[in-house]
Amino acid sequence: MSDHYYPARAVVYPGAIRHNTSVLAAAAPTSQVMTIVKADAYGHGLVPVAEAALLGGATWLGVAQTSEALALRAAGIDAPILTWLYGPDAPFEELLLAGIDISVASVDSLARVQFAAMNSGTTARIHVKVDTGLGRGGVSSLQWSDFVQSLGYAVSGQGVEVIGIWSHLAFGDEPGHPFTQQQVDALIEASSDLKRAGIDVPLRHIAASGATLREPNARLDLVRPGIATYGLTPFPEVASAEELGLEPAMRLIARLTTVKPVPAGQGVSYGHHYVTPRETVLGVVPVGYADGIPRHVSGLAGNPGAPIRVLGPDARDTSIAGRVCMDQVVIDLGPQAQEIAGDEVVLFGDPALGEPSAQDWAQAAGTINYEITTRLGPRIPRVYVAETPEGTE
Ligand SMILES: *Cc1c(COP(=O)(O)O)cnc(C)c1O
Repeated sequence: MSDHYYPARAVVYPGAIRHNTSVLAAAAPTSQVMTIVKADAYGHGLVPVAEAALLGGATWLGVAQTSEALALRAAGIDAPILTWLYGPDAPFEELLLAGIDISVASVDSLARVQFAAMNSGTTARIHVKVDTGLGRGGVSSLQWSDFVQSLGYAVSGQGVEVIGIWSHLAFGDEPGHPFTQQQVDALIEASSDLKRAGIDVPLRHIAASGATLREPNARLDLVRPGIATYGLTPFPEVASAEELGLEPAMRLIARLTTVKPVPAGQGVSYGHHYVTPRETVLGVVPVGYADGIPRHVSGLAGNPGAPIRVLGPDARDTSIAGRVCMDQVVIDLGPQAQEIAGDEVVLFGDPALGEPSAQDWAQAAGTINYEITTRLGPRIPRVYVAETPEGTE
């Protein structure tokens, strides 16, 4: 549904994805890298990001939804792919025929995958998901011995091959948290249980971005970074993206649709939460909460909205004035503004260029940087540019 004439675009830099992937691969030199491209690659675009990550040194791709796994294959990507979030009616045969690895987290889904392998004449490649403490997906400790028994039966027949055993951390964004080591130990223990049951598992994996960068014990055989791939820090309280050597892969740029002088005392946007302190020039920026701009970044009295950088010869910083609307926000360009309709502003992009970062926006919205790029709506065109603003190609 994206519209070529839409006066906003998310510029995405595959070169930055490649660079960040190589930084992550270097951080975990003895592990394989599975780049996580779920949720349309955190809003950056599934296929272009997958291709760039593979060029940067990733050897695996990971997605939550089975539809995303199939879309990667349909695009001609032949790297190993893991998918893990599905219901009992998932298209198991289609996945197996497409050579997609499936996470298995219950006796029931093990049976369904095995049945699909039989029907389709394939061998299912599965990764056993263990709940080592996150309390979300995965086989729980109370289910484990039954599960191991069923798995033993499954692999002694035909059609099921265990490729991996895996889990997800509860405190991956808090380096050094003692619970992380407990979870790593629990995963290694679970893998020993399988070995004792006669099942050898080549790959153990538990680390997302945070642990890839800061938890050497959690790297194991494969790491699964998501957010850092996109040039954003998994732990803003610990290290900035810049300190981690990561480059932001997206800049959200819009063109002013209206620029007009207004008198002092002009109330701006719904509810008049911003009132012009003097005669000034307002600019209308054509993105709003329909595009994933959080309404929480509205500029309210005593609480400025999210930062916006005005580009051009008189580049400067401003912030959202008043309420975020469905399709637009307003900025106060100041009494001396020379901008005209069509001139560009950056909502978030590359702090090395003096632009606000997605992290700045997360802070303004009281959320995490993940949500800022991932919620960016489908009507904003993604434009892929080979050369990054920082010159990596
Ligand atoms: C999203 C996700 C990741 C990646 O997490 P980041 O914090 O973005 O690096 C890794 N593994 C699983 C299971 C996930 O759901």
